[in-house]
Amino acid sequence: MRLKSALRMVLAVSLLAVLSVGCASDRKVIDQADQVHGSLEKAVIKDEVLANYLQEVGDRIIEQAAKMSADGKGPSKHFATDNTWMFGEEMRFHFVNSKTLNAFTTGGEHMYIYTELFLNCKSEDELAAVVAHEFAHIYGRHVQKGMDNRLKVLAIAAGGAVAGAAVGGKDNWAEGAAIGGGLGLAGGSLLNMGFTRQDEAEADKYGFRFYVRAGWDPERFGDFFQSMIDKGYDKTPAIVSDHPTLRSRVEKAREYAAELPPEAADWRREPVASAARFRDLQARAVQVGKNTPNDRSLENSRELLQALPRSCVSPIPAFEDQVAAQQDLVKKASEKK
Ligand SMILES: [Zn+2]
Repeated sequence: MRLKSALRMVLAVSLLAVLSVGCASDRKVIDQADQVHGSLEKAVIKDEVLANYLQEVGDRIIEQAAKMSADGKGPSKHFATDNTWMFGEEMRFHFVNSKTLNAFTTGGEHMYIYTELFLNCKSEDELAAVVAHEFAHIYGRHVQKGMDNRLKVLAIAAGGAVAGAAVGGKDNWAEGAAIGGGLGLAGGSLLNMGFTRQDEAEADKYGFRFYVRAGWDPERFGDFFQSMIDKGYDKTPAIVSDHPTLRSRVEKAREYAAELPPEAADWRREPVASAARFRDLQARAVQVGKNTPNDRSLENSRELLQALPRSCVSPIPAFEDQVAAQQDLVKKASEKK
């Protein structure tokens, strides 16, 4: 008996060791994400009506995710270590003022929805689908998994973005610059910083579950990807792209909707905003975007937003404007150094 429990202990310890290989701790990812947030802050929409609305959509998602977590449902990474922080009040969804069509999470307590994406949503369902997808990256710890270095690279870029106003202080800076032997590689790493194909598929899978349980229309989950296809964003063949095609994501969304249990009909709820209010909020975002001061620090935040990976919304590995923004940030970072 004693031998058995000792053996179990050894097994448990080795399993933990395996799980933690190449995996940044939650604390580290949360801290680095906070640091990056400091550089993006200028572009964050502070308007209370808009900010509260997005947070309300996000909180509905988190509420259902917390229930699924309590029921033991989710990828194994979710249960690898304490996950209660993911459902805490610190979790923030931000509208960021940018003409780039994107949504992203740095994996800690911050998720970003670009105003351009918001304005492209035909309904709250589309917005909620993207919000749920971003939260699912956090739920599945996709950033922790191998993103240790990638987030550090992002922190370097963030250092470039603030140009003068130090983000992480000198020590952090030196640490960042040492990664992989320099900024040249940092530039390359920025390009590869998006989530993997598996991560995106998993974020769709769990995002869908949060989304339907939170009351939005199961048939609408793939609508945003469909409108991206209509806009011509699905040009990269699946074979050369590291990301699922938008077409396959739309098809998967239909499959998930078809597989829902009968009780899913009871999950439907009114959206947070009616269709009319949703359009008003979009108009408000346009207005607020126009009135946001156009100083240099805002420009730098925007450039960093432009440089972030777009793997959540497009299978195209890198856009021209994205590469240009990344190169410029790396240049700024090296000048700062
Ligand atoms: Zn994603």
